[in-house]
Amino acid sequence: MAYDQDNIFAKILRGEMPCHKIYEDTNTFAFLDIMPRADGHTLIIPKSPSRNLLDASDGDLATTIAVVKTIGRAAMTAFDAPGLLVQQFNEAEAGQIVFHLHFHILPRHDGVPLRPPGQMGDNDVLVIHAEKIRAALAMS
Ligand code: 5GP
Repeated sequence: MAYDQDNIFAKILRGEMPCHKIYEDTNTFAFLDIMPRADGHTLIIPKSPSRNLLDASDGDLATTIAVVKTIGRAAMTAFDAPGLLVQQFNEAEAGQIVFHLHFHILPRHDGVPLRPPGQMGDNDVLVIHAEKIRAALAMS
């Protein structure tokens, strides 16, 4: 399947759609999931176009997973979370909805279930949560 230049994450990368940005470098971009299933739910994406893990270059995978680790640690610190869930889906049959490679990171606490998918986050709360992760990142 071909990469669609008009997918929502491509629009975010081009600045055509807003997001709560956490981090950016030459190859990688990170921002809050707009429908967070846990506080601090963040998406990490390579800037290069790929649908998912299956068509991404090994170089993009290597740089992106390193950022997953860095942002994951910062999100755990920001939310005082002892656990971190990393999720990544490939094609619709596996649950992929947005077809630009992305890794989910979700800070996890004992006894706190994930929220159901599809519930929009409160924008004011997302602003605060993004700032918490950026602050933890700056301290790391
Ligand atoms: P997946 O493709 O891995 O199943 O899920 C895509 C994720 O993107 C979902 O968790 C969904 O909440 C998130 N998402 C969908 N549209 C937007 C958007 O416009 N902005 C942001 N920040 N996240 C989005």
